[in-house]
Amino acid sequence: MNILVINCGSSSLKYQLIDSESEEVLAKGLCERIGIDGSAIVHQPKGGDKVTTEVDMPNHTAAVKLVIEKLTDPQVGVIKSLDEIGAVGHRIVHGGEKFATSVVLNDEVLAAIEQCNDLAPLHNPANLIGINSCKEIMPNVPMVGVFDTAFHQTMPKKAYLYGLPLSYYENHKVRRYGFHGTSHDFVSKRAAQILGKDIKELKIIVCHLGNGASVSAVKYGESVDTSMGLTPLEGLIMGTRSGDLDPAIITFIAEKEGISADEVINVCNKKSGVLGLSDGVSSDFRDLSDAASKGNDAAKTALETYAYRVGKYIGAYAAAMNGVDAIVFTAGVGENDSAMRASIAQYIGFLGTSINSEKNKLRGEEVIISEEGSKVAVLVVPTNEELAIARETVRLTGA
Ligand code: AMP
Repeated sequence: MNILVINCGSSSLKYQLIDSESEEVLAKGLCERIGIDGSAIVHQPKGGDKVTTEVDMPNHTAAVKLVIEKLTDPQVGVIKSLDEIGAVGHRIVHGGEKFATSVVLNDEVLAAIEQCNDLAPLHNPANLIGINSCKEIMPNVPMVGVFDTAFHQTMPKKAYLYGLPLSYYENHKVRRYGFHGTSHDFVSKRAAQILGKDIKELKIIVCHLGNGASVSAVKYGESVDTSMGLTPLEGLIMGTRSGDLDPAIITFIAEKEGISADEVINVCNKKSGVLGLSDGVSSDFRDLSDAASKGNDAAKTALETYAYRVGKYIGAYAAAMNGVDAIVFTAGVGENDSAMRASIAQYIGFLGTSINSEKNKLRGEEVIISEEGSKVAVLVVPTNEELAIARETVRLTGA
């Protein structure tokens, strides 16, 4: 049967239709600018070209309708009717402490997800809109929610508590949750398979380095620490996000620049990271490498600062697990940027990693990049969050 995987943002909706048996992507696409002028759907059937259709999408229900139209279209479609969709898997950003695993969506579950909205005000309401739109158009198709936070619910208290008054945790659930859980789970399991070892015997550090970036410590198959916190702003320096900061900076800058604390947070989310550090060159690592190679000092510093922070986190998580057997790189930068991997490797040799520079040149494929005798294995494992969501959907619905 086919699984429709939906990742719904406030004005966008990404989708993939995956054959649950072959695990092939039959079609994928993106609805952009939902509810805004100039909306369009970009649809790509397996083996075919991308087809962009500019069409009015006043809301998410209209977008889901259009997705179904494209999937069943005689020319660019890949199925004959809705009946060929066995279940829908939804990516949901925040499950708070309520969801430690994926779940079949029903009214009670949706109400519980809504209660997590204030923990992810930009993401969760959009995820719920996507779910409700699918419910409207496919009322009889079972749906599953897969949470970015769920995998990290195994973190112990000492890892998830902030050094704040305990009442903030007890009354407002202020704690570290972590994100990219679907990816950390998928990639750590795959790394164990590649190494031919039981994940229950491995201490793995996963570096998910994409536009957003996080590191996790996965001990014997469970997340015991991760770098993102209450929100996805904490931890590593990212494309546009600052990562770890002294919180006093917020009010200090607000006063100096004559802006509100909210505006400073907005800068921390959207104008910081390597974009900010490079003085506006780019949040894209390809542009930064290019600029650095042409002598742009700020771009060079941004890349060095980024690598240093990742190296520090790897060191910290080796300590958190009292050892490490494998370090895995994934996501856009982790999978493709061999120079960045080499740069990070400078900081972690003391753990017993030895990188094979030829293998490290490979891009975007599963590969062990450490030398044969390396005490700690270092791997590149492409992530596939959509496939992980489809698998969870099959597991819970039997579709
Ligand atoms: P993701 O969020 O996982 O899609 O990652 C997106 C980021 O990956 C982009 O912003 C780029 O910085 C980075 N990226 C993608 N391809 C490459 C590449 N070939 N070399 C370096 N960075 C890349």
